[in-house]
Amino acid sequence: MEPYVSIVIPAYNEEENLPLLLEKLGQVLPKIGKPAEVIIVDDGSRDATPDILREASRRYPWLKAIILRRNFGQSAALTAGIDHAKGQVLVMMDADLQNDPEDIPRLLAKLEEGYDVVSGWRKDRKDPFLSRKLPSRIANWLIGKITGVKIHDYGCTLKAYRREVIQGIPIYGELHRFIPVLVDFRGARITEIPVKHHPRRFGKSKYGLSRTYRVLLDLLLMFFFQRFATRPLHLFGFTGGFMFAAGFLIELYLSALKILYGQEIGHRPLLILGVLLIITGINLIGTGLLAELIIRTYYESSGRKIYLIREIVA
Ligand code: UDP
Ligand code: MG
Repeated sequence: MEPYVSIVIPAYNEEENLPLLLEKLGQVLPKIGKPAEVIIVDDGSRDATPDILREASRRYPWLKAIILRRNFGQSAALTAGIDHAKGQVLVMMDADLQNDPEDIPRLLAKLEEGYDVVSGWRKDRKDPFLSRKLPSRIANWLIGKITGVKIHDYGCTLKAYRREVIQGIPIYGELHRFIPVLVDFRGARITEIPVKHHPRRFGKSKYGLSRTYRVLLDLLLMFFFQRFATRPLHLFGFTGGFMFAAGFLIELYLSALKILYGQEIGHRPLLILGVLLIITGINLIGTGLLAELIIRTYYESSGRKIYLIREIVA
């Protein structure tokens, strides 16, 4: 039977966590009450993760494993999983059991109330305060301010989505964190419910403080994305047009001085300023046009290459 729910889980060096994760999923799936599949994406692990997945896919009929050629990062791994998911509803979560599979039926029930996205809120988050909780509290506040999407916890991977709001959205870099914002652009109805959170059982977090910088960079890019991505001409065109107009007025003024009053204008710095403004203005408008083209080409060409698959076992 075609799965209705697809649970997508990226895994990078999670050999110790997988057996327990699979066992817990096996207990939760029957409680969903709808046909479900689990897609675990091995993101180029260097430990036994792929072997465990191959072995497990023989034992669990609901498991599909996608083994990537190398480590592409959490966002790309998620995208690989989404691309191969069959369900109408997608659930995403981490492989390290910090999210609790027990919460999945509650997320799905909430989704059925008529939402497009149900986001997990780690009300009682079990991560170090200084390196993780504090930066993400600041980030959550900033994201909320900039984008106007008001949820408490963007960083929580555990979320349920209707397929149509997420399909085709390019997720790369650190963008998985901003999925709620990206889907909000599409008019998705978003809500959140508190979920359990556990300390990492085995292994280490794959991220440290250095990630905060990348997140901030993506945040900045996203701000521009939201404002100007579809119309960079607005940004460049406005500035360029303003400069051009200012330069044009200056030259008009100087021409009047020369023609009407016969004044010598060749030695006036204003002349140069006017010329520069006109040239720069025209250039900026041209840059805006190019940006429009580049953005379109970029999204069309990059959308497909963010991950490469070595093997799919089902
Ligand atoms: N992960 C991944 N590729 C990476 C880094 C992480 O697929 O390059 C997976 C990892 O296995 C886990 C999830 O992404 O399932 C979240 O990673 P982690 O637990 O290290 O992050 P944290 O919970 O500390 O934010
Ligand atoms: Mg984790």
